[in-house]
Amino acid sequence: MSEIRKHYFLPEYCIIAEGRAKRPSDFAGTAKDSEKNHSESCVFCGGNEEKTPSATAVYKKGEIFADTEEKRIRNWDFRCFPNLYPALSPAPPPPGFHGKGLEAFPGFGFHEVIVESPVHGKKLGDFSDTEISGLMKVYKDRVCHYAARKKVRYVSLFKNSGKAAGASQNHPHSQLLALPVFPQVLERELKAIREEEKCPYCALLEKEKASTRLIHENSKFVAFAPYYSMGPFEVWILPKEHISCLGDFSPELLFPLGEILRAVLRSYEKVLGNLPYNYMFYQLFETPEYHLNLRLLPRISTAAGFELNTGIYINTVSPEKAASYLRGYNNEPAQEEAGKEK
Ligand SMILES: [Zn+2]
Ligand SMILES: [Zn+2]
Repeated sequence: MSEIRKHYFLPEYCIIAEGRAKRPSDFAGTAKDSEKNHSESCVFCGGNEEKTPSATAVYKKGEIFADTEEKRIRNWDFRCFPNLYPALSPAPPPPGFHGKGLEAFPGFGFHEVIVESPVHGKKLGDFSDTEISGLMKVYKDRVCHYAARKKVRYVSLFKNSGKAAGASQNHPHSQLLALPVFPQVLERELKAIREEEKCPYCALLEKEKASTRLIHENSKFVAFAPYYSMGPFEVWILPKEHISCLGDFSPELLFPLGEILRAVLRSYEKVLGNLPYNYMFYQLFETPEYHLNLRLLPRISTAAGFELNTGIYINTVSPEKAASYLRGYNNEPAQEEAGKEK
């Protein structure tokens, strides 16, 4: 079992999970493999359901099923199951594990895989309207499911796409980790938000909407290259309405969220090609002052000594220029730009 360890004297945590080192990678194949519709060896592919732990939720033609050990549901649209090599596991935490001075405790929590399509080589940028809004609904449902669990204090929902972005499987999937601790990054943000009179996200949203950093906008969401960008082509997506968690999303918000996410991914594909990327939801349940945001970051630059030492990132593409590429107003080769030595 893994272990959650606290920093010597700061409210920061790491997870020691040696079992995860054993997880296989399916990146050994050629680039062509990732374009196939089905891979016999891929545990996430439709038809290979027996190769994963039994599902926690299966979505099929608008219906939701809980899977069972005996019968694996086939021909699904989305499928969720526990990670076979979890960073955290659901064994109950010891009593009083939030106690002060406790520096390590068993890695209680949940680690789930959300398979976004039964088709091996499918890209989110190519999802239909129904598929993309269906995926947003799955995100919402799974976040709600874990946020309601006892002792869960934070639900991390993210996607790693490509090996350099941390994915060990080529098949399109997202992951969710439900944690018994509150991450320091959000603690810091929340403290700063509580010191402001008005929600700083609502304020920055107004500003970015009217700036040269705006990339896409629909009736409910805005996507822009943030003024403070840690890396080349970082993008933030914010709901126009002040809303703190996917769990609070009305059904009318799900499609516009998926639509704008898909638009950003299509822009990435056009400008940067098939580059690895991550996206992460920043959201808090039962915390109405927080403003949900989704951040995307292509893996172009790596955090090196300076970044690790200072927490200050050197970005070689200004967000203004990144936005102009992603909007399609700039036809120079963007990748060259991003590859420049720091
Ligand atoms: Zn597959
Ligand atoms: Zn707000």
